[in-house]
Amino acid sequence: MNHIPVAVVTGATRGIGKAIASRLSKEGMSCILIGSTKQSIAQIKVQEHLHFVNPYQKHRALAIDLSQWPQWTLNSKGIYSGIDFQGDTSDKIIPGQYRLFPKVNQQLWETPRTQYYISLLVNCAGISQHSLSVRTPTEQIARIMNLNFASCVSLSNLSIKHMMKTVRQDLSSKHCIPGYVPPCIINISSILGEPKMTIPGTTIYSASKAALTQYTRALTQEITTWGIRAESISPGLVTGTDMTNEMDPIAKAQLVDSLIGLPTHTPNEIATEVWKIYSGNNSL
Ligand code: NDP
Repeated sequence: MNHIPVAVVTGATRGIGKAIASRLSKEGMSCILIGSTKQSIAQIKVQEHLHFVNPYQKHRALAIDLSQWPQWTLNSKGIYSGIDFQGDTSDKIIPGQYRLFPKVNQQLWETPRTQYYISLLVNCAGISQHSLSVRTPTEQIARIMNLNFASCVSLSNLSIKHMMKTVRQDLSSKHCIPGYVPPCIINISSILGEPKMTIPGTTIYSASKAALTQYTRALTQEITTWGIRAESISPGLVTGTDMTNEMDPIAKAQLVDSLIGLPTHTPNEIATEVWKIYSGNNSL
């Protein structure tokens, strides 16, 4: 039996999430990428976002608007519009309706002699704030909090249920999964979520990231007993993504000023950090 670890990566259509998906798939994981719309996931490309390095790997992209929380969680069938990548040729790229997580006693992909198990969740999708708090419409406040925080909690809860099964199976089979890496949740937070960072124009965004960081710390205490890990990463400025494009220009200038002297990162560096946290010293 082949055991293939699956990573769920949100915000994987562009920027940091794209780099993370690319790295994880190059390392041999199967990936489920989440973007906000059918149009955005249609941009996902083999050899760019996703790679095939072993014959058992499969990938999936799903369109889920995570800012519509809790509505997206109420999809009782857990099926969303998506694209299945069953190989690296165009005839193996199949649009359809697909599951985010497998049903009980079912697999994400029914492939003989291969077991796919949820091993990693990377909550990376996020949006920034465009104006001072007082000028931010209520709907925008909800979108930021839903996407940057509440959906991360719901996805963590869904993942943990599947990860617990994997850990149970792994323990009962005396660690027989080759290259087994304990399941892990990695939340992409921000330096703006740290208490010392108080920059006008980032109020709600900063609060959403502070909540995510603290949630991750407390969650670790709950899930470590089940053999599941949770960590957050709080990058400073990451170059070459769309994140800061829509920020209020004054807030953006103050942000850049306040980060002078601190290192900037590239999406690939964040992807390397994610891989290091997940894999430890193990290789799959
Ligand atoms: P980008 O703006 O480049 O990418 C954002 C990603 O989030 C896209 O894949 C986008 O998908 C997805 N997304 C946006 N809205 C939704 C939604 N409603 N539902 C589902 N997915 C959605 O951002 P970055 O790559 O720069 O940022 C990634 C993460 O890193 C964010 O959480 C951000 O807060 C954090 N971060 C970024 C820093 C930076 O300097 N760039 C610094 C510190 C942290 P779609 O294409 O469908 O819109």
